[in-house]
Amino acid sequence: MKSLKLLLAGAVFGMAALSSSAFAQDKGTVGVAMPTKSSARWIADGDNMVKALEAKGYKADLQYAEDDIPTQLSQVENMVTKGAKVLVIASIDGTTLTDVLQQAADAGIKVIAYDRLIKNSPNVDYYATFDNFQVGVLQAQTIEKGLDLKTAAGPFNIELFGGSPDDNNAFFFYDGAMSVLQPYIDSGKLVVQSGQTGMEKVGTLRWDPATAQARMDNILSANYTDKKVDAVLSPYDGLSIGIISSLKGVGYGSGDLKMPIVSGQDAEVQSAKSILAGEQYSTIYKDTRELAKVTVDMVDAMAAGTEVKVNDTKTYNNGVKVVPSYLLKPVAVDKSNLEEVLVGGGYYTADQLK
Ligand code: BGC
Repeated sequence: MKSLKLLLAGAVFGMAALSSSAFAQDKGTVGVAMPTKSSARWIADGDNMVKALEAKGYKADLQYAEDDIPTQLSQVENMVTKGAKVLVIASIDGTTLTDVLQQAADAGIKVIAYDRLIKNSPNVDYYATFDNFQVGVLQAQTIEKGLDLKTAAGPFNIELFGGSPDDNNAFFFYDGAMSVLQPYIDSGKLVVQSGQTGMEKVGTLRWDPATAQARMDNILSANYTDKKVDAVLSPYDGLSIGIISSLKGVGYGSGDLKMPIVSGQDAEVQSAKSILAGEQYSTIYKDTRELAKVTVDMVDAMAAGTEVKVNDTKTYNNGVKVVPSYLLKPVAVDKSNLEEVLVGGGYYTADQLK
């Protein structure tokens, strides 16, 4: 009797194993289009997506476009031609995918905008990202903390940098940051000596560190020969690195000339080290493992025809429709909590930050 039971249990288990592996093979390919390998965060995003997709039985077709718009376009076209089941796209220019997404829709392929909103297309099914306005708020709050703006008398000099104007996120980051900084600018506690404010003046095309560095060089030589800059709003770690090398070039961070409070985003390893070394002041940690998980859950729910989990249905209007979104929470990091958050949370090992 006992052995019969065991036999039966074994048979049932065997069937379950068989059917789940057969099911896994059937789940199809998901096209994952990432913008560039020039930034560590997108490499992590790609790796995490592949892992999370494979764990659920999908194949991943991961492509990077080195920030070149036509390259990304042809990569996505290829994914459509090859019959991907779902496309997950972190766009370079969020406005250039309208035609190819129509082809995808015609072929019955679903589309998830990954981290960056895809604009001007009705064929974006879902959007997985972080609370981008809050990213900007947190960036500015680290500057508020670093300068002790709430209590210090000031005035302090600040310069502002924005992200790429073809990335919808850049406006959310800037607006979020200005919601905190503008009152201080209005009261005169913060002064933008260059007078350069507004995304049309402070945007940095393609998030290019060299562009930010050159702009900082110009700002310093035109406005700061007899003044010092106390803070720089930087929306992304790569730009922060360019900005900091410009500052170092004219002596900030040595002797009496303190390094200004410089913000960032993505908790990239080089910037995490810079924060520990007392150069960059802060960054915003966005756990790309969580973003991959949310995205793959969306893929899986769409494939199974079950309800897709979203937590925001009003913020992200792409010009044609409001794209239902899942927003994750960003976390501000500075020297005081960096190890606890990044090493404690398993994002980096202690060795990686040495
Ligand atoms: C992302 C940021 C990143 C930036 C530059 C934005 O769309 O949300 O995390 O810093 O692109 O790569």
